[in-house]
Amino acid sequence: MAVVKANAYGHGSVALSAAALKSGAAALGVSSLEEGIALRESEIKAKILILGSIFPLENLEVAAGYGLTPTISSAQGLAQLVRLGRQRRERLAFHLKVDTGMGRVGISPLSARALLEKIAQRNEVRCEGIYTHFACADCDREYTQSQRAAFLPVIAFAKKLGLRFDAHASNSAALLSGGNALFDMVRPGLILYGLLPFEGAEKKIKVSPVLSWKTRIVFIKKVPRGMSISYGRTFSTSRQSLIATLPVGYADGYSRRLSGKAHVLIRGRRCPVVGRVTMDMIMVDVTGIPGAAIGDEAVLIGTQSGETITAEELAARAGTINYEITCSISSRVPRIVV
Ligand SMILES: *Cc1c(COP(=O)(O)O)cnc(C)c1O
Repeated sequence: MAVVKANAYGHGSVALSAAALKSGAAALGVSSLEEGIALRESEIKAKILILGSIFPLENLEVAAGYGLTPTISSAQGLAQLVRLGRQRRERLAFHLKVDTGMGRVGISPLSARALLEKIAQRNEVRCEGIYTHFACADCDREYTQSQRAAFLPVIAFAKKLGLRFDAHASNSAALLSGGNALFDMVRPGLILYGLLPFEGAEKKIKVSPVLSWKTRIVFIKKVPRGMSISYGRTFSTSRQSLIATLPVGYADGYSRRLSGKAHVLIRGRRCPVVGRVTMDMIMVDVTGIPGAAIGDEAVLIGTQSGETITAEELAARAGTINYEITCSISSRVPRIVV
């Protein structure tokens, strides 16, 4: 299952879903009903699992209407799906989510037994999958193994009841840390996009990032020494400077936390972001970049003439993780598939 939630981690879910399916993914995973609908409206016919908890009744009905598979993790949710199945005279498929230690959504392994017994008696619904999610696959092997150990008896019990389903657990980190949790299906997100979930993962798999984020210089000016740049006057030039303006800001997902901290690549050189990131623009110091001019490509993430800025670098500078950097690239930034 290719996880394409959050607009495929900011990459563009329609194009990336199509690529994943073409490459052999059996299903897609999204977070919400809305994300699933967006894929259906783009003529994606594959199985789509809604990984998040959705609001019951009205939303279950909408999900059924679009042929989206919901996640069920309570007796109440199951009862509502059964009622809907009866109403629609359809055997509605779902996946059961078991919380083995993530502490987010899912039924506890203990309560799962009673629920599975109910499921086995119901013709209105079909349990196509049973899954759990790891909290520390990137950092705590022992805890991951304890989650796996809690998941195993649930699967065994469901099989004993005669249910036929795909068991799944592994996200990218679990896949790379080799915890023997492959089961019938895996759910990678991050690594599909050529990004790695923890330091050292590059020793396990070689990937390269799918995404580059580029803009162009839209304005350029020579300013005297002592001129302040941007809101709050947090930066002033220490010399006569050439300052370029780029049409990208925090409304595009270029975090305000990068104010005064990040670089962009122009003409193959690193240029510091100076002053605060504003909603729609940032300023960069291009003093000493020979020939810097309006229209020059500026790379925010990616490679230019052998120099590279990674999502990980921006994440470190903004105090977050690579996931958040690409997920934050907002909808007003055009995605161009190459
Ligand atoms: C996001 C998510 C994944 C994918 O996680 P990655 O770390 O991106 O591989 C898998 N399963 C669930 C339930 C998720 O929410």
